[in-house]
Amino acid sequence: MADTVPVIERVRDDVWSLAMPMPRGHLPYSLLSLLRDRDGGLHIVDPGWDTDENWTRFVDAVAGIGASLTDIRSLVSTHLHPDHLGMAERIRAATGAPLQLHAAEQDALDAQEKNPWTDESVARQLDDWGVPVERRDGLTGFASNAPTSRWVTADRLVADGERLDIPGFDLIVEWTPGHTPGSICLRDDARGILLTGDHVLPTMHAGLGLGGATANNALADYLGALERVSAFADHEVLPGHGYRFTGLAERTHAHAEHHRRRTSEVRAVLAGHGELSTWEIATRLSWTAGWENLRGFFVFSALSQTAMHRDYARGTPGVE
Ligand SMILES: [Zn+2]
Repeated sequence: MADTVPVIERVRDDVWSLAMPMPRGHLPYSLLSLLRDRDGGLHIVDPGWDTDENWTRFVDAVAGIGASLTDIRSLVSTHLHPDHLGMAERIRAATGAPLQLHAAEQDALDAQEKNPWTDESVARQLDDWGVPVERRDGLTGFASNAPTSRWVTADRLVADGERLDIPGFDLIVEWTPGHTPGSICLRDDARGILLTGDHVLPTMHAGLGLGGATANNALADYLGALERVSAFADHEVLPGHGYRFTGLAERTHAHAEHHRRRTSEVRAVLAGHGELSTWEIATRLSWTAGWENLRGFFVFSALSQTAMHRDYARGTPGVE
């Protein structure tokens, strides 16, 4: 809460939380979890951003809890973003520990690898959204500047409800799509913890649909997945950023309300007009920084969130 990068914290007897700074990120750090199993093996959840500084930080942390790299038995990432998956390959290469991802997340990574953004595909997307030609400066360059996830292939794909192979833990996979198609949370009822990645965060509302195009509406998926984890109201939340907290039901409610308000706003804009392009809808919405001040990636992101809310508004009845 002090807005500094915290030192490693022992969260339970056999669970530690390690902040991993994000050099190019818009947040100061992500949180990596270290789990020590009954046999002394270590299991890593959400390896952080891949930098030499973070590697040293990670190796020091492992030594600091009296272990070594040879104790590492498995890796799992809650989703494909570079602040959660980035260092997985380096840890895997150094230890041989298998990397686990949800099957839908591997599919999303594969799709990004096969169809990366190019100047042409970005231009087609901007046409689709109805972006005026005079506002495309800095948007078409998006393709070459976008922070993309490096392509990796998981050693094991995990499924909803599955128990991870960590002796002495009952760490269960909860498939919580929305932020990305194969985002997962991990829950351990005995320890009363829920590792949420970016699905539930203490201080911000994560963007949705940030893992590439999907057949389903990311907002619809997300609202369902929030409902689902809210059942574990007494668990302590170990999020992917910020700090651990209790009060999961209140927080999931706040996330849902945030997005529902946005959908209502989009619905109100649509009601007052005939056909509007995504661009035209976005210019009529309220933006914290002010629409005119958004640039580059943030315009791109704002337009994709607007399109998602419009599609959701069209597919669901309005709330009085
Ligand atoms: Zn993320």
